[in-house]
Amino acid sequence: MTRDQNMEEQYRLKTQQWLKDNIDPLKERQPFSTLHWMPSKETEKNHHNACQQLQMKLYEAGFAGTTVPAEYGGHGGEAWMQKIFREESTGYQVHTGFYHSIIAMALPALLKYGTEDQKQEHIKTLISGEVSWCQLFSEPGAGSDLAGLGAKAELDGDEFVIHGQKVWNSAAMYADMGILLVRTNPNAHKHEGISFLLFDMNQPGVEVRPLIQAHGAGHFAEVFLDGARCHIENVLGEIDKGWGPARVVMSNESAMIGGAAGDNPSQLIQLAQSLGRRHEPVLRQKLANVYSRNKLLKLMSDRISVAVRNGKMPPFHPSIVKLFVAQNRRLEGDLAQEILGAAGVVTSHTASEWAMEILHSRYPISIGGGTDEVHHNNLGEQALGLPRDIRVDRGIPWKDIPKG
Ligand SMILES: Cc1cc2nc3c(=O)[nH]c(=O)nc-3n(C[C@H](O)[C@H](O)[C@H](O)COP(=O)(O)OP(=O)(O)OC[C@H]3O[C@@H](n4cnc5c(N)ncnc54)[C@H](O)[C@@H]3O)c2cc1C
Repeated sequence: MTRDQNMEEQYRLKTQQWLKDNIDPLKERQPFSTLHWMPSKETEKNHHNACQQLQMKLYEAGFAGTTVPAEYGGHGGEAWMQKIFREESTGYQVHTGFYHSIIAMALPALLKYGTEDQKQEHIKTLISGEVSWCQLFSEPGAGSDLAGLGAKAELDGDEFVIHGQKVWNSAAMYADMGILLVRTNPNAHKHEGISFLLFDMNQPGVEVRPLIQAHGAGHFAEVFLDGARCHIENVLGEIDKGWGPARVVMSNESAMIGGAAGDNPSQLIQLAQSLGRRHEPVLRQKLANVYSRNKLLKLMSDRISVAVRNGKMPPFHPSIVKLFVAQNRRLEGDLAQEILGAAGVVTSHTASEWAMEILHSRYPISIGGGTDEVHHNNLGEQALGLPRDIRVDRGIPWKDIPKG
């Protein structure tokens, strides 16, 4: 065994022991449990708090922020350490919910575009879960066409004064800070007059109104900004050049959502077995299909995360995994309903609510982080080199673009 192999083996043993001593195994979780199906406000808040505690615990033990440089509060480790943790933790409840998501989105942008002071101030508290962040990008008139956003920020001395509305902001009701996109130059073309702010949510002029979805969950909120302020020291990158860091956030968001393989296929197999249907040939084929697609998704998202961790470009376009995970969720939801029959839409079986939850999950997964149609456009234009979509706003200052 070489010195490197020896170090890796030691790290693996240490990781195994820590997980065994500190984290709940997934197999002890109730089968067919739901997270987003008609939860109470209290359940959601408790879940968010539990995710924060878990993030802090992982950070303290060196398993979060592992490869982040030590001078910014990370553990200064190497990519192979994260790989070992990922391999060893598959059977454990280590997912930190929206903390995982926002770190995956915001950290690469902070590392790439942050000033020394911004990195010192924000990276440690982000990766340790000490400070909760949210993403304030979408607006009622700017989702797919994000660069058309209109929340206005005007300079008053050294501070921006902000007016506008954001929407669909996940976990904004719990957030202390937000990554906020604002229009700072309406005379420039739409991609060129946007600034990216590291924004304090706890101030006058910020109103967060939770939104309740059709299945009862309150995953996100709308945020009204009325005279809220942000010092120019908190601009990430340059003023009017916020589209660069925003793109870093969005491409990491696609890869992060694509990595959400979940464990629906094993639960579907368990369900078919419990109903005595595991010998039905057509059903077996469908189960094999969702199971294999889930494995493929994990392999693809591993390839992307290994590349990103090593500071390389993703080996293939992240829109592929974003579209693949959405297709998986549709197949899984349909199959759950097929296996349960009528019990899939009434609460007469222990798996009914779980089946309804995955049936509905096709919508958020096909919209959040960019819709399926937009990701198909991305693939066509950026990966296949097809002609670009017709753009009627090209070369026009943002203020002159007709708005709905
Ligand atoms: C679960 C979830 C979590 C989210 N979290 C956040 C968050 O934390 N922060 C945040 O800022 N936003 C968040 N969003 C918002 C999300 O980014 C937007 O919903 C998404 O970008 C789509 O924008 P839209 O809803 O305005 O739809 P629209 O852009 O209005 O799209 C409407 C329809 O038109 C289609 N369409 C639009 N443009 C084109 C085109 N050029 N070609 C073909 N079809 C097109 C779309 O595919 C869609 O079917 C979240 C959304 C969801 C579902």
